[in-house]
Amino acid sequence: MGNGQIIKDAHAKINLGLDVLRKREDGYHEVKMIMQTIGLHDTLTFKRTEDDRIVIESDSGKLPLDEHNLIYKAAKVFFEETGQAFGVHVFLEKRIPIAAGMAGGSTDAAAAFEALNELAGCPCSQEKLMEIAVRVGADVPYCIMKGTALSEGIGEILTALPPVAPANLVIAKPDIDVSTAFVYKNLKVNELDSHPDIDGMKAAIEKNDLRGVTDRLGNVLETVTIPAHPIIGQLKDCCMANGAANALMSGSGPTVFAIFDSPVKAEQAAEKIRSEFQLHEVYVTEFWGQ
Ligand code: ATP
Repeated sequence: MGNGQIIKDAHAKINLGLDVLRKREDGYHEVKMIMQTIGLHDTLTFKRTEDDRIVIESDSGKLPLDEHNLIYKAAKVFFEETGQAFGVHVFLEKRIPIAAGMAGGSTDAAAAFEALNELAGCPCSQEKLMEIAVRVGADVPYCIMKGTALSEGIGEILTALPPVAPANLVIAKPDIDVSTAFVYKNLKVNELDSHPDIDGMKAAIEKNDLRGVTDRLGNVLETVTIPAHPIIGQLKDCCMANGAANALMSGSGPTVFAIFDSPVKAEQAAEKIRSEFQLHEVYVTEFWGQ
């Protein structure tokens, strides 16, 4: 409780597995995914103010800072659902690549729910926050939960899993824009000739078997995004040629992540990608939330 300043790290996620089971009559896709938070994060600073405005500032020039920002939407939903009303100033230090398949907006929204709840004296349990957060986006409840999880339904049915065995990661975001709507629209669910083994991956996680996880990385959305943007396949190949246990596109892309069994290998592969592909958004990180 109080009027002080609250600082939150909002972590990105990757999908270790992403399957689409069917398109529902209402147009949504039924998914089955293994979600994993990673070390890469944004940092948000929240302060209560004397008026009743929601003011957002950021060091990124690439984001809307008005009511289109997911932080703003989260604040609106929080105030509506709890009957609270106060002014808040938010500064967003953006590091997570934008529109990249890493839930950057959703995790900022999750941090906003947590911080506003604390600024209000914690009227909501974590469970309640997750319940109201789905109004901002299907991935936001998971971003409040964090860690390793199985996600089903349209992404809102979550089952917590034990942490995945530690590993080193390279995250590489090619300099292209991929629209999530385009990817889902062009996905031919009935024509997919293979599906990732999500149940097998879940079992491997439960046995603390990292190899069982890396052997099963799979994302059906690659069938749409990679043909449209061959650089994604080239980045995966480069990671594999430089010692990765495996590599995959995250979400609807275009970010690629690769899993390594040593920090040195991960650093070397990242350096190779930076020089060979002239990319700026290349990070070395690890699983987070264990
Ligand atoms: P997902 O993995 O959930 O599909 P993403 O990583 O592909 O998400 P985001 O980075 O969340 O995509 O951004 C998607 C869009 O949302 C962007 O075009 C951006 O303008 C908008 N947006 C609104 N608020 C934010 C925010 N706080 N951070 C990032 N993007 C935001």
